[in-house]
Amino acid sequence: MRIAVMKETHPGERRVPLIPATADKLVKLGAEVVVESGLGLSCRFTDEDYVKAGAMVVSSSRSDILQSADMVLRLRKPPADEIELMHKGCVHVSYLDPFNEAELVELLRRAGISAVSLEMIPRTTLAQKMDVLSSQANIGGYTAVILGSEYLGKIFPMMTTPAGTIKPARVFVIGVGVAGLQAIATAKRLGAMVEAFDTRPVVEEQVKSLGAKFVKIDLGETGQTKDGYAKALTQEQLALQKEGMTKACARADVVITTAQLFGRPAPRIIDRKMLAAMRPGSVVIDMAVESGGNVEGSEVDKLVEIDGVQVIGFSNLPSRFAETASQMYSSNLGNFIEHFWDKKAKVFNLNRNDEIIKGALITHDGEIVSEMYKSIMNK
Ligand code: NAD
Repeated sequence: MRIAVMKETHPGERRVPLIPATADKLVKLGAEVVVESGLGLSCRFTDEDYVKAGAMVVSSSRSDILQSADMVLRLRKPPADEIELMHKGCVHVSYLDPFNEAELVELLRRAGISAVSLEMIPRTTLAQKMDVLSSQANIGGYTAVILGSEYLGKIFPMMTTPAGTIKPARVFVIGVGVAGLQAIATAKRLGAMVEAFDTRPVVEEQVKSLGAKFVKIDLGETGQTKDGYAKALTQEQLALQKEGMTKACARADVVITTAQLFGRPAPRIIDRKMLAAMRPGSVVIDMAVESGGNVEGSEVDKLVEIDGVQVIGFSNLPSRFAETASQMYSSNLGNFIEHFWDKKAKVFNLNRNDEIIKGALITHDGEIVSEMYKSIMNK
């Protein structure tokens, strides 16, 4: 079975889908691994590292690599003009963002590709080792704190020095999923005083266990879905939340927002009035900027100043720590492939009866097979 790994083409993307350690693992499983020359350079991996891992490094045209592949691994969705280069039955594994990429899904269907959308892997205990959403959100949360400290102009830890005592910075994290938890942990490690808020009450314990303070706001009934995702708030609840958070924002030096709603635009939770209540020069990092934004006025890939507050909407935060993010993504991919590997036949077994494949497979054999995709797109 030939597994091909393509270089990313998206501008500014520094992460790579496969690092040499995972190539080694796949080769040991019995796969023939072919990588495009220069694949790992943005993460300090040379062609030689992949060769040492047993992969074949190819510098011929991308179409040659794609045509001979039984499985293609990428990070981001495939470029539309490369879909027809793959042969029918080829398994394509990447982020796909299917709900926003209906045309691409149609091209994959028509080409007879078995397209796996990694963000659709069910968030079960069994699938945790393949969960790219979590691994990348983790690095994103870390990156947000590092960015915050870079732009703040004030150090995070308390310091007692002959020149006087320096007070610790105050960080407020809104949305305590995977990214938020890592942001709290990172800001604590740097010595900041950390507060956090989430609409899911179960999060309070997790916030406290990291040594941060949970900001309590009585919103009435909130809760979470059976998969652990937040439920959308009513307009009244959102207004209550804003009121409760204004003070916490005003006393913070850095605010990091990570609030997301599965399959829907991110909730708008910080408005201009709340920004105006913050000290000028404070930093707000909107980690949800690409899915609609948590902060009024934030812009994708920009730092905008609103009432003197620096509002940062940089996209693709994990790519700033590409080597670690790639290590985790690659490991998720390796675990996914290994889980479905038929050791005797030395092939990937696309087991259509398996819950993970049922959740993540979007197209197969000329059909759209994802029930969730069909139900959301036909609404
Ligand atoms: P997410 O990216 O969907 O959302 C980030 C956070 O924003 C969530 O904690 C959510 O509650 C919060 N949020 C939504 N609206 C908000 C608002 N108005 N104000 C404040 N916060 C708001 O979250 P995620 O990181 O993908 O995690 C979602 C859930 O999935 C969590 O319960 C997490 O523990 C769970 N999870 C499970 C697994 C697993 O079992 N394999 C893996 C990862 C995550």
